Amino acid sequence: MRVVTTVQQMRDTRTAWAKSNQVGFVPTMGYLHEGHLSLVRHARAENELLVVSIFVNPTQFAPHEDLELYPRDVPRDLQLLEAAGVDIVFIPTPDEIYPPGFVTYVDPTGPLAEQAEGARRPGHFRGVATVVLKLFQVVQPHQAYFGQKDAQQAAVISRMIADFHLPLRLHVLPIIREADGLAMSSRNVYLGSEERIAATTLYRALQAGRLAFETRRADGPLAVIKAMTAVVASEPHAVLDYAEVRNPNSFLPLESLHAPAVLLIAVRIGSVRLIDNFLLRADGSWDVGIAVT
Ligand code: AMP
Repeated sequence: MRVVTTVQQMRDTRTAWAKSNQVGFVPTMGYLHEGHLSLVRHARAENELLVVSIFVNPTQFAPHEDLELYPRDVPRDLQLLEAAGVDIVFIPTPDEIYPPGFVTYVDPTGPLAEQAEGARRPGHFRGVATVVLKLFQVVQPHQAYFGQKDAQQAAVISRMIADFHLPLRLHVLPIIREADGLAMSSRNVYLGSEERIAATTLYRALQAGRLAFETRRADGPLAVIKAMTAVVASEPHAVLDYAEVRNPNSFLPLESLHAPAVLLIAVRIGSVRLIDNFLLRADGSWDVGIAVT
């Protein structure tokens, strides 16, 4: 496994593999868990050359958010990536990606970027789209792998790939969960022991929302939102940020309950903000993720 830290090194290494038409790429912010590793394993199986990036992207954090506190453990990440058979790990510094004089951003617009997460985190998807386009430019993958955990991010990237005619295929893979349903996240490390127990609220709320979706279809999205909200309200450590039912591609709110749909939830547990979702695919099947036992 080769570790590269500059854009030039990454380009040179990629050029050496120019003949390959199966280059896979998994962008991450590091502090890896089974969710990241499931992307890496899928990508490993489907590609000749596999590149993983570790970059805590400053432009997707608002000034009051947790950029400085974001958990980091590069030595451990490298061990995990080596064991997973990764070929190249790209770990640039912020200055390498945003050198002095940097001014050009990709700014996704409309409900897809400005509602749900976009409404609570203004500028977040601008930072995400910008860094992902930059990483795609440097790595030049044929296939890129993202998690359904960040449903809106995946939709924004999918739209960007179409809008900019990017020559690559996007794969969005299921959410990997702890045995009790909590979606794996690097931020789970911030949870105290009582908070960790309370954090299952998101999964329980989504289950209640799915049940309402299936049994009270005629009552419309409000029934689903109320079912999710009631579960969060019953957990003293949890404060609801939002519970919503949207189209998973446009992120417009649904007016009636039909597939495709995504149930979205964001909750504060103490100082930790967590997000989760269940996806109802167009064919009527649910993707609620995979629990590791
Ligand atoms: P992050 O390091 O949080 O930016 O995540 C890097 C990639 O891993 C993104 O595409 C995420 O959606 C994905 N990811 C994060 N958590 C999970 C999870 N629990 N299951 C599946 N994919 C995940």
